[in-house]
Amino acid sequence: MTAVAPRPLTAPSVHTGLPGPRSAEYLDRQERRESNARAYPRRLPIAITEGAGSFVRDADGNVFIDFLAGAGVLSLGHNHPELVDAMTGQLGRLTHALDFPTPAKDEFTEAQLAMLPAGLRERMKLHFCGPTGANAVEAAVKLCKTATGRGDIVSFQGGFHGSTHAALSLTGLVSQKRPIPNPVPGVHFFPYSSCHRCPIGLSPDTCAANCAEYLERALNDPNGGIPLPAAVLMELVQGEGGVVPARADFVRRVRNLTRDLDIPLVVDEVQTGCGRTGTWFAFEQYGIEPDVIIASKALSGVGTPVALIIYDKSLDTWAPGAHSGTFRGNQLAFAAGVRAIEIMKRDRILANVDARGDQLGELFAPLADHPWVSDVRGVGLMWGVELADPETGAPASKFARSVQDHALHGGLILELGGRGDSVVRLLPPLNVTAEVIETAAGILLSAIDAATEEER
Ligand code: PMP
Repeated sequence: MTAVAPRPLTAPSVHTGLPGPRSAEYLDRQERRESNARAYPRRLPIAITEGAGSFVRDADGNVFIDFLAGAGVLSLGHNHPELVDAMTGQLGRLTHALDFPTPAKDEFTEAQLAMLPAGLRERMKLHFCGPTGANAVEAAVKLCKTATGRGDIVSFQGGFHGSTHAALSLTGLVSQKRPIPNPVPGVHFFPYSSCHRCPIGLSPDTCAANCAEYLERALNDPNGGIPLPAAVLMELVQGEGGVVPARADFVRRVRNLTRDLDIPLVVDEVQTGCGRTGTWFAFEQYGIEPDVIIASKALSGVGTPVALIIYDKSLDTWAPGAHSGTFRGNQLAFAAGVRAIEIMKRDRILANVDARGDQLGELFAPLADHPWVSDVRGVGLMWGVELADPETGAPASKFARSVQDHALHGGLILELGGRGDSVVRLLPPLNVTAEVIETAAGILLSAIDAATEEER
């Protein structure tokens, strides 16, 4: 058999059915050997062999635009050559160092603190966690419980905080879909400013950020049924929840309330952080200062795992070893993370996030009148197209699956989220080009048309 020369990864091209025969072999072996809990390849049936920038190649040589980007991890795309270079340089020196200080960690810490708004830089400390977002969520909750001596946590409906036991217990999004028996106690879910499907049934003319008021009343009322919590935990844009940006007045009122009652406000910036929304952290756009910031996914820019919490020094009352863990010293991630920040600044990546976000907004404008599209939302390069049954308004889960499938066949990898997985989500690399955005938007619009055709 003659070897096929690899095509460069510059444009999508799908030339087999999906999965192609080689991907099918991998998927088949995976199904036999791996757990029933495996997730992404069930709906995106490909085996991936290579990635470059905004593209991946599968085992059959098909090339896809990857707007899942490692679930928002690959902020500078797959295998950014300078990040690979930074990691290769570090690789021969030191790769793992528990939580000992090292030059790579020192530089990374310095770079992370320097990215904070001036007012926060001096009063925040870092704790390096086990290298996942969920582990950092666990750390944040433990920190606040220790510092306040309180046991309860307020979290929000529709939010997602990870798959470990406590993080899942704090997750409003999946508690019905993937219930865990006997979740961590003391978690109270409150309505989020999810205006497209208002949790308290109001419309824009009747809304006065009543969701914030509901929380204010519950926490101020001695008969509210809730002890003063150790923390209020929130995403500023719910990601897995279907790309739901919080209203500014809601966030400010939650900040004022938590400050008045001396409750640490924890922002989960695992997905929104590191430039995804156009500022380094999303809270900057709300004019608030949180007490604890949780960051992970895109910290290294290239997918090498690392997670941390950044918190007000006054909370630093936990004991030595209070949140230990073996994998808290990933030197490759630190080296890449330092270089990633340099590249973000040099290449003006945040400006690209804004420009490409605006471009997506314009390209999606025709969807406003589409019968199956109930809402199009986006901040920076975090976008969601919510699909709903035109007759009933119910979340169009099956339709969304069909859109995802048609998009994949057209050469675009997309994820679903939100209620009933009815929101098509786009998380492109932050350095994506205008050309790739245009191609991807074209594939998505065609996929929506194809799914609509099937419904006729
Ligand atoms: N918080 C948020 C907001 C997330 O989006 C995620 C992951 N999607 C997590 C926490 C959990 O991160 P990880 O999967 O790395 O544990």
